[in-house]
Amino acid sequence: ADVPVPDDRRTHADPPPRSFGEAMVEARGLRRSYGDTEVLAGIDLMVREGEVVALLGPSGSGKSTLLRTLNHLDGLDGGSVLVNGTAIGYDWQGRELPERRTARQRVTAGVGMVFQSFDLFEHLTVRENVAAPLRWVHGLGRDEASARADELLASVGMSHRADALPRHLSGGQQQRVGIARALAPRPRVLLLDEPTSALDPEKVAEVLQVIRDLARTSGLTMVIATHQLRFAREVADRVVFMAGGVVVEEGPADDVLLRPQHALTRSFVGAMD
Ligand code: ADP
Ligand code: MG
Repeated sequence: ADVPVPDDRRTHADPPPRSFGEAMVEARGLRRSYGDTEVLAGIDLMVREGEVVALLGPSGSGKSTLLRTLNHLDGLDGGSVLVNGTAIGYDWQGRELPERRTARQRVTAGVGMVFQSFDLFEHLTVRENVAAPLRWVHGLGRDEASARADELLASVGMSHRADALPRHLSGGQQQRVGIARALAPRPRVLLLDEPTSALDPEKVAEVLQVIRDLARTSGLTMVIATHQLRFAREVADRVVFMAGGVVVEEGPADDVLLRPQHALTRSFVGAMD
């Protein structure tokens, strides 16, 4: 009798390999000091379109400074940042460009950011938190901005609290609004700075789920600073491990997290099972 050919289970269990586009973020030789402390000591980072990168490193290693630099919320003492081929906010010597030009280029460059502490506008409703920046910064009309806000709030499961003020939401709900706000202007790149580290433990999962869905389905280029190693392994195409203001090790998530090469990486991921 014919022996049934077993299914090739791998093709069912494993998602198809992800492929990425051209360089979306290109940071070269980034330097930034505060007083005598060199916080970024020559960072090179390239992220391709559609790639999801987890940024790991001990506290104080410069992750937040790097993300702020990529979003031009912080200055630079040397190096350059290109987003989608356009220099954002710095000239070729790393000097900040004049404010007005910077603001316009930030809009053009399309970088969105999600903050550890949510940083919602306390006096605005949830809907207005998402809609107002679309009017103020991106020039959308009132109705268009509201419609876009409602669409984004639905996508993070927050439609039912659209008229609430942030202080009446849980931390997890506030962060989901923070994500909606960052996504509203249709950024090319989304930066997330430890998006769950200010949350009560029971609120972490709902926010990670939103980020996981985005990473899998949106095609958005993402850089996520996180201490959640298991989440990083699950969600990231590539892991970048920083220490002391430099990139110590980077590579596919499983390589860096399960077979770290550098002693500093090894001690950092040692806690991971
Ligand atoms: P991480 O996000 O990896 O914890 P940060 O980028 O927040 O690291 O900080 C790196 C170092 O830079 C820390 O030593 C921090 O104290 C210092 N630092 C960050 N921002 C400032 C600032 N605005 N002024 C002075 N020192 C700062
Ligand atoms: Mg930080």
